[in-house]
Amino acid sequence: MSEDKKAGKIVGIKGMNDILPSETPLWELFENTVQVVLKSYGFEQIRTPVVEATALFSRGLGAVTDIVEKEMYSFTDSMNGDELTLRPESTAGVVRAALEHNLTYDGPKRLWYAGPMFRHERPQRGRYRQFHQVGAEAIGFTGPDIDAELIMLCQRLWDDLGLQDIRLELNSIGDAEERGRHRTDLVAYFEAHHELLDADAQRRLHSNPLRILDTKNPTMQEMVNGAPKLIDYLGEESRTHFEGVQRILRHSNVPFTINPRLVRGMDYYNRTVFEWVTDQLGSQGTVCGGGRYDPLVEMFGGKPTPACGFAMGVERLLELMKASGEQYARQQCDVYIAHLGDEAQLQAFVVAERLRDAGLDVVLHCASAKAGGSFKAQMKRADASGAAFAVIIGDDEVANNTASVKPLRGDAASNAQQAVPFDEVTSWIVDQIVDGGEEYEHDEHDAHGHEHDGHIHYKH
Ligand code: ATP
Ligand code: MG
Repeated sequence: MSEDKKAGKIVGIKGMNDILPSETPLWELFENTVQVVLKSYGFEQIRTPVVEATALFSRGLGAVTDIVEKEMYSFTDSMNGDELTLRPESTAGVVRAALEHNLTYDGPKRLWYAGPMFRHERPQRGRYRQFHQVGAEAIGFTGPDIDAELIMLCQRLWDDLGLQDIRLELNSIGDAEERGRHRTDLVAYFEAHHELLDADAQRRLHSNPLRILDTKNPTMQEMVNGAPKLIDYLGEESRTHFEGVQRILRHSNVPFTINPRLVRGMDYYNRTVFEWVTDQLGSQGTVCGGGRYDPLVEMFGGKPTPACGFAMGVERLLELMKASGEQYARQQCDVYIAHLGDEAQLQAFVVAERLRDAGLDVVLHCASAKAGGSFKAQMKRADASGAAFAVIIGDDEVANNTASVKPLRGDAASNAQQAVPFDEVTSWIVDQIVDGGEEYEHDEHDAHGHEHDGHIHYKH
């Protein structure tokens, strides 16, 4: 629990963000688009717990990876002594679940997930301690075709989100034997340039020298550029696989560059690795990373089962969407109902439910400590809600069995309010909006075909 010392107030935890109502329309748009795209490739969603046994990650990710060395939120369950960890990523959990439930008993599986991940990193733009990933794991597929499919799926998602300026970097890191030969030469090379290694690199020299290639230290770049390249150590099978991926991508017009220095943080990767990167987010420019991880299922005690997947950073992608300048604001509702008096309140509930039956979003004014209950105060709320109509019910309306309906937006807003019998309020409003009468049009898509919100839109 974090405490704001001075005020004695409890505040949120550093690096863990609240996603406020002003932000959620963008999140929802992202999530909806993701769902549609993954479904269109036949991927099925899986949801695994946020907490797993610590051993799952220390064994699965590799003991000397950044995540396991210093980023995990691990704790001992005070009830029973279990060693637990808030998941820092989801591949390990998904593979565990797939094995535990024998999901691949009748053939390979295309799975996807979305949710929060936890890493104890230094918070900065694009790097948080609770962040969100969407990922896909294709388990049981051997060939380069699924690697290419996963990549194309990402490309489609960027397109559907209206994101440009994300480029694909591709590499193959071969198999264990090929990496072994490369590693021997690499360590020898780094030892020959020992004076240029920073502390991190020296620590990794014998534990995980491949990760040195991934350094962000500018003073090491030149030396690292000259290091032996894994790609030159690939055997026949790895090369054929890698060429297979490239062949499909080229034929499908997915541009990429081969980055021989691209490696991935986790130990379980082999062969194809890829990253989607952008220059628009400063140093946190990787929005998605993935690759093949054929050894992992066996490491978890399953039968040897090849697999391939990716994970994307949702916060970074949303940053990019915001940078594109499109507006993702959304009105709170279609109709706001203002009412005054006990009888009026009961009638207001009836009218509101009928409008909702017709598919409209309705905010019914409810008593609050702050906002006054006068009609004036309620109409202010109605305006702020972005509703297209206010329905007003007071003593007079109850006496006449009618509501006053007032258009609030566009040219129609200058129209006077009208008396509409309670029974006809729904049809009256629906008539104004459904299927583009002269005045209004129903349009959920913008020029890109994006569904910005589920709301009715009006001509001005
Ligand atoms: P980085 O090199 O930026 O630390 P990573 O290699 O640790 O990334 P992965 O484990 O491959 O990242 O996770 C996939 C994606 O999740 C990343 O490309 C990034 O977009 C996102 N991501 C990773 N860590 C964070 C974080 N702490 N905050 C926000 N997004 C993150
Ligand atoms: Mg990291």
